[in-house]
Amino acid sequence: MKRVALLGATGSIGRQAIEIIEAHPALELCAASSGSTPLDGVNAPLKQVGGDLTELLERAAPDVVLNAVVGFAGIHATLWAVENDVPLALANKESLVAGGELVDGRGRIIPVDSEHSALFQCLEGQAGVESLVLTGSGGPFRGRTRDELVAVTPEEALAHPTWRMGPKITVDSATLANKGLELIEAHFLFGIPYERIEVAIQPTSIVHSLVRFRDGATLAHLGYPDMRVPISYALTYPERAATPAPPLDFTSLTLQFEAPDVETFPMLRLARQAGEAGGTAPCAYNAANEVAVAAFLEGRLPFLAIADVVGDALDRADIAAARDLDDLVEADRRARELAEQGLPVS
Ligand code: NAD
Ligand code: MG
Repeated sequence: MKRVALLGATGSIGRQAIEIIEAHPALELCAASSGSTPLDGVNAPLKQVGGDLTELLERAAPDVVLNAVVGFAGIHATLWAVENDVPLALANKESLVAGGELVDGRGRIIPVDSEHSALFQCLEGQAGVESLVLTGSGGPFRGRTRDELVAVTPEEALAHPTWRMGPKITVDSATLANKGLELIEAHFLFGIPYERIEVAIQPTSIVHSLVRFRDGATLAHLGYPDMRVPISYALTYPERAATPAPPLDFTSLTLQFEAPDVETFPMLRLARQAGEAGGTAPCAYNAANEVAVAAFLEGRLPFLAIADVVGDALDRADIAAARDLDDLVEADRRARELAEQGLPVS
């Protein structure tokens, strides 16, 4: 039996994880948490709404932690798993973006993010890696000009073409901040410098990512967009259990790739800059983005202003070394404050 502590059990990833755990005889839910939603339908011996996630993890003593919390709030659980050397199935990319320098190759992290699960699998047992190619759908606004984005609404941003996800990551997909966070996530997960991580748009989300090798070979990971596959992989690793995902029908596929439009979607370029700056810069990028996305979803900020708020907060933040959790908590707090100051007065 593998005992799973599921943090963020009521979310999009959390609900799909419960489906995977219930279908697998060797997986057992030992603890479940949510931020504020009741856990009524969730069957676990330990349940917690709100509160300190590390206390829950101490009590649960799980074999694996699935961190499916959204946002910086997941950082304590990520660092707990790394410091206690408990395997971490990581969906909460924001915690690795903010805290990557503290994690610094320690711990046993199996990514749940579909692109990183793909990269993890393409990299296993390999040498001679040239570069990583992170794929993305381009989101609901792919192909649009800035003029065509001036008046887009939260409803339009939430209509993702290929994935059904929680609201924050869906807006991140529309701005390409999600790909920016994933670029930093890939850097910390695989220890590859930023100049050797490319981003390619693959609109149907069939190619989940690729790895180029020095001999000219490229390995890709393909499948329909279905998060149950990387969730199951992370929870049953290295076993690779069966899932309800349908097999890929090659005969109906044409695969197209294009370059990301970083002029129209500056959040990807800002992420690369923050990643290369290092220290507390990725943490500040993430925090400012969380504030801007929340304001956009509340109708308080136009879509194109999300990148303005984040760019301005990064310009004004004092980027320093990230030595410990206190440094990150302070960088997160300060970047939120700067981002709030950049919001229109209502
Ligand atoms: P969601 O909004 O659907 O669910 C978030 C979960 O986190 C909920 O259970 C919520 O109660 C909990 N939560 C929120 N704030 C919290 C707090 N302050 N403290 C503790 N718990 C809190 O989000 P989601 O789409 O399931 O995404 C979860 C994470 O997985 C995000 O980091 C996201 O980027 C990542 N991810 C999601 C998908 C997807 O398909 N949904 C794909 C790849 C990566
Ligand atoms: Mg992803």
